[in-house]
Amino acid sequence: MKAYVRHSMGVVGWMEKPDPVCGPDEVICRPLALCPCSSDVHTAWEMDGAWLKDITLGHEVIGQVIEAGKDVKDFKVGDKVIVPCTTPTWKHPDIQDGDPWDAGGMFAGINFSNYEDGVMAEKFKVRSADMNLCHLPEGMPYEKAIMVVDMMTTGFHGCELANVRYGDTVVVFGIGPVGLMAIAGAKLMGAAQLIGIGTRPNCVKIAKEYGATDIISYKDGDVVEQIMKITNGRGVDVAIVAGGDAETLGQAYMVTRCGGAMTNLNVITGTNEFKFTYASCGGGFMGHKTVNGGLCPGGRRRAERLTAMVQADRLDPSLMVTHTFHGLDSIGEALQLMKDKPRDLIKPIVICD
Ligand SMILES: [Zn+2]
Repeated sequence: MKAYVRHSMGVVGWMEKPDPVCGPDEVICRPLALCPCSSDVHTAWEMDGAWLKDITLGHEVIGQVIEAGKDVKDFKVGDKVIVPCTTPTWKHPDIQDGDPWDAGGMFAGINFSNYEDGVMAEKFKVRSADMNLCHLPEGMPYEKAIMVVDMMTTGFHGCELANVRYGDTVVVFGIGPVGLMAIAGAKLMGAAQLIGIGTRPNCVKIAKEYGATDIISYKDGDVVEQIMKITNGRGVDVAIVAGGDAETLGQAYMVTRCGGAMTNLNVITGTNEFKFTYASCGGGFMGHKTVNGGLCPGGRRRAERLTAMVQADRLDPSLMVTHTFHGLDSIGEALQLMKDKPRDLIKPIVICD
């Protein structure tokens, strides 16, 4: 079969690979729709390691089951499925410690294109199928469903980690697709003042549609000063980082009120240290601020819950789709677009059938 792979750092392309072999609790799918992600760009162009040689890229996909293992109960050949990008084995004792996503090692729940082949191929394998897959509801457009697998679960997770409450003032640093989903999630969880930080006009427009009450641009001056000004010097209850760099973490910590929470959803590269200033630490005592962060929760129930929200029209995540490609062959072009990040890009999608 054909697979789109990372040959070596910065070198990507198609290659022939053997068909994946279906284990007893696994399924083999063909992709119906795929989305390239910034994480694919990190894997292909920024990460290095022998284990990544010729690894198939991709982790955001809607698929159709073409083979099911003998132990799979709830999914059969022909079923259309939403495939979370995080698919733990659900068979590791670390899960009993309460963090399935990192059970067996950091990021071990995200095996696609990290530890095993990803989904940008004519066929891909999903492990622990009954525990990880979610049926695609009849009639739900791929553009909506595919946002469940990473963008929604990741953006919403920032709100969960920071425990957004009714009436909270929330700031979201970065209004790319994850930040936009953090804004939508914060609104659904009851945020009152909801501040987005970004400049791209189409992102600003959608941020407002998802519930942002204020937009701040770094082009208008120091963002910390701007946030403190519009919160009357109090700072925010919750700061969610969904873009920027190591410095952004320091800014988020600074604007979080004493007793508040900040959380990071962004893959921060290019630094070895994060710095919090003495002033932001409440004079050295850390000000009872909670700091958290993590990768996107996956698994079947999570996907079913988020899909139910889309079905109930609580939000329309397909507003973020700005570029549509047709045919699996266009995956390289779509991934390159994700790397180049033209100003009007939020999320590209490849429709395979
Ligand atoms: Zn992704």
